[in-house]
Amino acid sequence: MAAALEHEQRGPRRRLVELLHEQGIKDLAVLNAIDKTPRHLFVPTGVRHRAYEDSALPIGNGQTISQPSIHARYLELLKLKGNEKVLEIGTGSGYQTALLSILASQVFSIERIPALLDRARETIRQIGARNISFLLGDGTLGWRQYAPYDAIIVGAGAPEVPSTYHEQVTEGGRILIPLGDREEQTLYMFTRRGDKLEQTEIAPVRFVPLLGKYSWEDL
Ligand code: SAM
Repeated sequence: MAAALEHEQRGPRRRLVELLHEQGIKDLAVLNAIDKTPRHLFVPTGVRHRAYEDSALPIGNGQTISQPSIHARYLELLKLKGNEKVLEIGTGSGYQTALLSILASQVFSIERIPALLDRARETIRQIGARNISFLLGDGTLGWRQYAPYDAIIVGAGAPEVPSTYHEQVTEGGRILIPLGDREEQTLYMFTRRGDKLEQTEIAPVRFVPLLGKYSWEDL
């Protein structure tokens, strides 16, 4: 990460980290990643003054950056050790991609909206993260070329787990995905055990729909 950028907005970012800790986030690696990552650069200038509130914010094209406490819980659930290969579906602003790049060794991230991907790519270039590969396309297909992944983390809601994810996750690997209807979902963590996915229900959530061949199809 470019050193000068780590210092910008340090105070508000520290307060956000303290808030997340008070809310029960205990994983120091996750808190450290949030402390290091300049969220204000990942949101449009019109909402930049709100970058360190625990709020979802609009990022254009009808999409949102999730609230920091959601990102923190997602990442805490994955229990990354630092040596994993992770596939992220729904790059959005690229903020979570940046957090993953600190917590894992390689990050592959897919976004279907070109304007969002271009902006995310540019912000990631600015902060200097190098272990990220981006793909413009339908994330419900996964990214077969670099599979299998130790974790697949999905930032949009689907009716069921796309079969491609089961095929592209390692044995014992995890899939974190919101499942439900287009407005409301439940966050699930699945662990691959051979042909089966062991399911753990986490919490009710609200995400934008995952649009693609193996999800809601109306592209
Ligand atoms: N985690 C992101 C961040 O930090 O900004 C926010 C993700 S946003 C809630 C969900 C994203 O999923 C949107 O950018 C949307 O365009 C994207 N998306 C929806 N369906 C997709 C698909 N099939 N493939 C790739 N991206 C998809």
